[in-house]
Amino acid sequence: MFWGLRMSLTIETTSTAMTEEVKAIPAMKRGFLGHCPACDRGRLFRRFLKVVDHCEACGTEFHHHRADDLPPYIVIFIVGHLIGYGILMTETKLEMPMWVHLALWPALTLILCLALLQPVKGAVVGLQYALGMHGFGAARNQKNASLEKEHQIES
Ligand SMILES: [Zn+2]
Repeated sequence: MFWGLRMSLTIETTSTAMTEEVKAIPAMKRGFLGHCPACDRGRLFRRFLKVVDHCEACGTEFHHHRADDLPPYIVIFIVGHLIGYGILMTETKLEMPMWVHLALWPALTLILCLALLQPVKGAVVGLQYALGMHGFGAARNQKNASLEKEHQIES
């Protein structure tokens, strides 16, 4: 009897906590576009690769993200495949002179890396937010608890 009552209370708390959650793919898309993964309105970056401490629109904290080395690793993986495929294809199909290779591929590699680094970092932060990693989960639980308290006071 006591256990049953306790179980139902736990389930109720969990379902209320679901209100603040964003799924991984939408959160990653928002982060990729440089928007806040939680609300899609605020900016995620204050400088090229500096993530804001908290969202100016919804107040979600981002200072505890830990993107670390993952964004450059993913960028190297993507750009390496694109450039490697490009070199192989142009070499086998077009027979370009060496000076064109030397002028084209390093420049294209640099441009692609710089263009992809911020969006990929945004997507990684979005994923960490959606999965509740590195303090995002604790912050969300705290926010949900305070929302729940407000709701209880109102009703
Ligand atoms: Zn926000």
